[in-house]
Amino acid sequence: MSPVMETEEHKALRTAVAALGKRYGRDYLTRVTAAGGYPDELWSEAAKLGYLGVNLPEEHGGGGGGIAELSIVLEELGTAGCPLLMLIVSPAICGTVIARYGTDAQKQRWLPGIAEGTRTMAFGITEPDAGSNSHRITTTARRDAGGDWLLTGRKVFISGVDIADSVLIVGRTEDARTGTLKPCLFVVPKDAPGFGWRAIDMEINSAEKQFELTLDDVRLPADALVGDEDAGLLQLFAGLNPERIMTAAFAIGMGRYALARAVEYARDRTVWKTPIGSHQAIAHPLAQAHIELELARLMMQKAALLYDSGDDTAAGEAANMAKYAAGEACVKAVDQAVHTLGGNGLTREYGLGSLVTAARVSRIAPVSREMILNYVSHQTLGLPKSY
Ligand SMILES: Cc1cc2nc3c(=O)[nH]c(=O)nc-3n(C[C@H](O)[C@H](O)[C@H](O)COP(=O)(O)OP(=O)(O)OC[C@H]3O[C@@H](n4cnc5c(N)ncnc54)[C@H](O)[C@@H]3O)c2cc1C
Repeated sequence: MSPVMETEEHKALRTAVAALGKRYGRDYLTRVTAAGGYPDELWSEAAKLGYLGVNLPEEHGGGGGGIAELSIVLEELGTAGCPLLMLIVSPAICGTVIARYGTDAQKQRWLPGIAEGTRTMAFGITEPDAGSNSHRITTTARRDAGGDWLLTGRKVFISGVDIADSVLIVGRTEDARTGTLKPCLFVVPKDAPGFGWRAIDMEINSAEKQFELTLDDVRLPADALVGDEDAGLLQLFAGLNPERIMTAAFAIGMGRYALARAVEYARDRTVWKTPIGSHQAIAHPLAQAHIELELARLMMQKAALLYDSGDDTAAGEAANMAKYAAGEACVKAVDQAVHTLGGNGLTREYGLGSLVTAARVSRIAPVSREMILNYVSHQTLGLPKSY
């Protein structure tokens, strides 16, 4: 790999995180998830080693790196079979937005906990009646006497609310209630009166659960608003581009994990004279999956490099493409892995069958495959819009 894309430090980080992941591994995550728990030990150990806040500023307890480093952490944990989805949300989205747009007081208040893993922040933008069309979100902040805000609305599919202490909510102010989204972001503590959360019954085998949120005149102090209420989409995308890059890392890790299990199996399993891995009908799709995961990683590295160097516009396009490529590569790798194991691909013992659903998440969230194709059609190719 080119040293431009990955430095010696990056490679050392990969090796170290891979070693941590190996010590926990898939069996650990499966056990914790089956018991309805959360991989707290892994989360805490990753925090102690400085991995959770690797992208956050050093003066606020972070490692002073960027999304390139954080994406390595997530990819390698995923490759070991124990990804931490909340890395996408807490340090990557919320941490970045606060680090870039928060006041000094907000940075001091939130960032050290996020970096140390003692404070987890969920992120809520998706709404039931808006879905992919974020311009239709209706969660509204009303200014009350004394500078407080009153926030009202509904959110769906918000990950990890049970393990978070607060949620960074994307809303809009009363003055900008309709039209093109002019987002404003609020840190909402989970115990705020008027804040309700209910688990959605998802068919995904994952330690992180999804929740529906109700905000009913939730009273927030003036300093719950992160950034400028007029900064608009710019500050929102400061969080959404890292989210896309990190989702690519999540997908690549899962794809690599599944592929490795399939390769191990195909090397040994013999039903004719030679192991099934010697049949090209099995070997070639696995080789293809490997190539596509590598290509997706290259795009993810490009996106991270652009983002970390401050080129938000170019990073936006690359982050979308990386998320798309990684989602597709992950779905194909998992599908082929399950197929390679034959009947064992669907047994609990081998644990690959449940990844079929989990892999689909990276095609749908945080932005669907079609919305990325729309973005590239319009923004990159200059084609007209149908919607
Ligand atoms: C496991 C999981 C975790 C999630 N975590 C979070 C979270 O933490 N925070 C959060 O805010 N959200 C979260 N989400 C929500 C996620 O971002 C949304 O599901 C996603 O943005 C798609 O929105 P939707 O589900 O409303 O689908 P819809 O917008 O209803 O889309 C349905 C289908 O229609 C297609 N479609 C829609 N519009 C167009 C168009 N113009 N052209 C072509 N096709 C179109 C879509 O591609 C999709 O295939 C999560 C979702 C999942 C599944």
